[in-house]
Amino acid sequence: MNRPLIGGVAVAVAALGVAIAAQRGGNRVRLSAGQECPPGRTETRPGVCQAPEFPPPSIVDYRPRSTLVTAEHSVPRSKFPSIDIHGHPPPLTSIESIDRVVAEMDKLNLRLMVSADNSSGDRLTRALAAINASPHKDRFRVLGGINFSNVGPDWGARAVAQLEADIKAGAVGVGEVPKSFGLRNRKPDGSRLRIDDPELDPIWAAFARLGVPVFIHTAEPQEFFQPLDLHNERWLELALFADRRNNQPGGVTFEELLTERNNVFRRHPKTSFIAAHFGWHANDLARAAKMLDDFANVTVEVGAILYDVGRQPRAARDFFIKYQDRILFGKDAFEPSEYPYYWRVFETADEYFDYYRDYHAFWKLYGINLPDDVLKKLYYKNALRIVKGLPQNGWPQ
Ligand SMILES: [Zn+2]
Repeated sequence: MNRPLIGGVAVAVAALGVAIAAQRGGNRVRLSAGQECPPGRTETRPGVCQAPEFPPPSIVDYRPRSTLVTAEHSVPRSKFPSIDIHGHPPPLTSIESIDRVVAEMDKLNLRLMVSADNSSGDRLTRALAAINASPHKDRFRVLGGINFSNVGPDWGARAVAQLEADIKAGAVGVGEVPKSFGLRNRKPDGSRLRIDDPELDPIWAAFARLGVPVFIHTAEPQEFFQPLDLHNERWLELALFADRRNNQPGGVTFEELLTERNNVFRRHPKTSFIAAHFGWHANDLARAAKMLDDFANVTVEVGAILYDVGRQPRAARDFFIKYQDRILFGKDAFEPSEYPYYWRVFETADEYFDYYRDYHAFWKLYGINLPDDVLKKLYYKNALRIVKGLPQNGWPQ
């Protein structure tokens, strides 16, 4: 029933710019074209906003139970052995901690964890020594790191020497180049270190010469750079975590960071870059496609963007099939209970199921039901091709 607003006395409320009509059951507000409902009201009929009779719960308390009855397939283990290229495991410094991580990996069918903690020098060699002394040395590989402090005229030679030492010690590439690069790192004169600063060119070129990839995290989700208002789809996350508010006046923008990143991709076509978190384009697959089309030296990784894959299952499926040679599995935070959400999205056609963190996403996930040959590439074949230092034997064909 579309009941017109009648019977009330229209009162102009200057502050809201809306008309309120008093009615049985609460206040209703009629909107003019282009307006949205004032706080505390929701649009119940076209152009009419109404306040609930009871105080609405906050978004952190509202957890509706879905009544949808549909097929559910839990996927505790990946269908094929998998490689987590974006691993941040607990410190692998003792046999006991290594054993504990391996036990969790076994339950998930995660055969290989690539530690992406941007570690270099002594810290790297200590980690490698502990892994090599354990009975599980082929379950882990370690990425080296870049130190972006004091970037100046002699930085390049120093950084390249350290990179060569780290690769010689056993690092299989570098990463995760942290998000602070571009956002917060400064040059000695106090200016922001741009991602495409020419002083950094020697290190990007060295990766090509050494034949190892750079796993790089650039920028953050687009909404982290937008005002913290009630239209921001990451409102809750930004309200929870102060260090994610990259929306301060005068700060570097999302577009500036991606432009600088793409300048580096373009300037170093022989260097293999793995863009962490889908390059933060998982919410805009046309843009992700353009990046992969423009830069043959770039691949992407799926860590912490599952909510964007799972909310567009048809487009995502098409994308993962079209770009099946360009996408690597990675998880980011090591929470064993969260990996099965990835397996379920990639492997099933399940519909409308929960994601694991409300503050990332106020929506449900859908499976994209990838074919086996695409799953194999996503889970291990692409990583084995791009990161030559991974254990190459014993994988299914
Ligand atoms: Zn990251």
